[in-house]
Amino acid sequence: MIKLVNSVADLTALRDREELEIIMALAAADLLGATTVKLWRLVGYSDELRLHERALLADRRVTISDAPSNANDLPTLDSRRDLRLCYDRQTPLPASPSEKGRRGHIFPIMSARGVVGFLEICRATPLSDHRQRLVSGLLRIYQNHLKILDYSESDALTGLLNRRTFEAAFAHLTRMEATSRVGAVRFERIERRRPIDPDQPRWLAALDIDFFKGINDRFGHQCGDDVLVSMARLMRISFREGDRLFRYGGEEFVILLEPMAAQYVSGVLERFRALVEAHDFPRVGSVTISIGYTCVGAADDGTAAFRRADDALYAAKRQGRNQVICYEELGCGAVLSTHALLEADALVH
Ligand code: GH3
Ligand code: MG
Ligand code: MG
Repeated sequence: MIKLVNSVADLTALRDREELEIIMALAAADLLGATTVKLWRLVGYSDELRLHERALLADRRVTISDAPSNANDLPTLDSRRDLRLCYDRQTPLPASPSEKGRRGHIFPIMSARGVVGFLEICRATPLSDHRQRLVSGLLRIYQNHLKILDYSESDALTGLLNRRTFEAAFAHLTRMEATSRVGAVRFERIERRRPIDPDQPRWLAALDIDFFKGINDRFGHQCGDDVLVSMARLMRISFREGDRLFRYGGEEFVILLEPMAAQYVSGVLERFRALVEAHDFPRVGSVTISIGYTCVGAADDGTAAFRRADDALYAAKRQGRNQVICYEELGCGAVLSTHALLEADALVH
C-alpha cells in the first residue's frame, strides 16, 4: 500500500511530461513485478495512426525515444492487432503472447480526445484481476494529472501551448535534452534514442498575422478568432512532431523548431508562409503572415532568443510583410533601424 501511495505522490508532484511517463512506467513495474514495461504514444491522425515507443523499461533500465522527424518511419497502429483492438474497445486487454512466452497486458491511456497511448506490461505470470484494477486506477490518476497539465499549458482558443509555458519548454529543450532532470529519479540508467541530429542548433521563429486588425474590423471578432484557430491547425499539420508550437499573444505565434542545419530553416518557414498565403480562409479568403527567426545558442535564454526573432519579424513587417527574415542575416544596421523605427512608431502613437 505504501508503495502505491508513494507512486501516486511521485506522479502528481511532477510537471514534466517526460518524467511523468518514466515514473508511470516505473510505478507499474514496481507494483506488478513486471519484467518489461512499454509506454506507447499514438502519433498522427485518426485515418493513419502510428505507434511511437516512448519509453521502454527493462532490467531497471529506461530507454526514452523521441519521435522520428518523419512519422512514416513509425509502425502503424494496425500492425499491432492487439493494440488496435485496445484502441477500438478503450479497455484493458491481454497482449498477444511474446516469443518468450511472457504474458502481456495492455492498458489504454485516455485523454479527452480518446485513446492517446498504451501502457504495455509484460511479466512471467498473468495479472490477477486485483492487480489489473490497481494499474487501471494508477492510470486514471496519471490521466487526470495530464489533463490538468494540458489545461494549464495550453491556449484555450487554439489548443497550442500558451506563452506561460514558453520559457520552461525553451530551457528544457535547448539545455536539458541529454542531461534531463529525470536523472533525479531513482533508476539506474536512462538511454535516449534521438533520431534528430543533436549536433545541429534549434531555431526559434516568431510569426505574426499581417493586418489582422483589418480582418477583425471587416469581418468581426468571431471571424478573427476562426482565422486564429485555422492558423493553429495549419501549423499543426505543417510542422513536425519535434517542433513546439505556441500562441504567444493575440495573433502572434512562436515555433521552437527541432535541431536542423541552417540551410534548411528558411525553406521550412518559407513553405509554411506560402501555404498560408495559398489557403482559403472561410469568409475571409487570403491571409498572409510575416516570420522572423533566429538560431538558438547553447547558453541562450528564451526571452533573449524571442527578442531576436521578434526583431527579425518586425524587419519583415517593415520590408512589406508576407515574408521570412533571419535575424542573423540582418545587418546590425537593419536591426538598429528596426528598433529606431519602432521607437519612432511609439512616439507617434
Ligand atoms: P501587422 O501587419 O502590423 O501585424 O498589423 P495587425 O493589424 O495584424 O497588428 P495590430 O497589432 O495593429 O493588431 C492586432 C489585432 O489583433 C488587434 C487585436 O484586436 C487583435 N486581436 C488580439 N487578440 C485577438 C483574439 O484573440 N481574437 C481576435 N479576433 N482578435 C485579436
Ligand atoms: Mg499582426
Ligand atoms: Mg501582432
